Amino acid sequence: MSDALDTRCVHAGQPRRKAFDAITTPVVLSATYTFESTRALRAYFDGEVEREEYGRYGNPTVKAAEAKIAALDGAPDCALFSSGMAAVTTTLLAMLKQGDHLVLTSDCYRRTRQFIGTVLQRFGVTSTLVEPGDLEALEAAIRPGATKLIVSESPTNPYLRVADLKALAEVRDRHAGVKLLIDSTFATPVNQRPFELGADLVLHSATKYLGGHNDLLAGSVSGRPGLVQALKDFRGVMGGVLDGHSASLLLRGLKTLHLRVRAQNESALAIARWLERQPQVERVYYPGLESHPDFAVAQAQMAGFGAVVSFVVKGGLDAGSKVVDACRLATLAPSLGGTETLIEQPALMSFYELTPEQRAAIGIQEGLIRFSVGVEALGDIQADLERALAVLG
Ligand code: PLP
Repeated sequence: MSDALDTRCVHAGQPRRKAFDAITTPVVLSATYTFESTRALRAYFDGEVEREEYGRYGNPTVKAAEAKIAALDGAPDCALFSSGMAAVTTTLLAMLKQGDHLVLTSDCYRRTRQFIGTVLQRFGVTSTLVEPGDLEALEAAIRPGATKLIVSESPTNPYLRVADLKALAEVRDRHAGVKLLIDSTFATPVNQRPFELGADLVLHSATKYLGGHNDLLAGSVSGRPGLVQALKDFRGVMGGVLDGHSASLLLRGLKTLHLRVRAQNESALAIARWLERQPQVERVYYPGLESHPDFAVAQAQMAGFGAVVSFVVKGGLDAGSKVVDACRLATLAPSLGGTETLIEQPALMSFYELTPEQRAAIGIQEGLIRFSVGVEALGDIQADLERALAVLG
């Protein structure tokens, strides 16, 4: 690819001219890429030139976004996928084979757990679930020779448990052949950098904070070049690629990531502290609160505590629904991390088809509300919640 058409970002000592000298990264919407001759084709396959070939193997706008996320994660390379789940499924299928075992911390994204517990199991990959923070259980769960992966989220959903990532990496180091994959979606690279704390791979649902505007689906995995290249190769087979248009939206979102996340951190901490003082609220879960079980780990490991605040209202499911329905600024919707404040009850969203008893068994309280703080004025967000809580008297 000639310099004039190079759309990759300028960073880490790559002094390249931007395409068309445009300040923004051009959106390349091309399913395939042309070769001027069979000689040019051979040169490409012989590795003499770096360029695109076919949309499933790469796209210049996507590569620009990958370079930026790698830099944010402090990792040498990054692979983007068509969604966070495409990142999870492609990565796990690329890294595991029949007979392998993985250890997963509980309280993590439901579909990740479902994929591991059902699909991977069908292919002969077994798993053990351990409590986040229970390092002894983690150590005990590792089966020498068979365990290939430790998978954890931090912070987790919906109780915002924070894993001690250095400690997880130390457990990994004691067992040859084991890799550590951290889903850091809830933290973002602004608040937490798992690669620098020892993770082999860092995953984000870029649908959330990285995109940041609730207008795209994407997933990223950052890590060492060899490992990430293997994921890119496998992505070319599985097909879960990001398109140039979504990558362009993602690049735009990344430009304000640090501004949005810092503002959201501040507002969420203020909302969490305020919620703790409200008589209608039984319990607040936010890692920036001293009452949170992982407050000390979060303080040591995170630059900010993120924008999701979970809380339990007195009165159970119906009381929670009254609060959700009374909100005007906060919108009832799944997802988190965008500019808009969103509110939901996990019992009526992710865990709707379970009975109250089944929900209780996995720790999902009936009165639990998950609140994803957006970038609206803090006073407006708080006034909305105050009015909504008032319906409970
Ligand atoms: N990981 C976490 C922590 C999530 O919360 C989600 C989605 O909510 C995912 C992965 C999956 O991401 P996506 O919805 O982009 O497929």
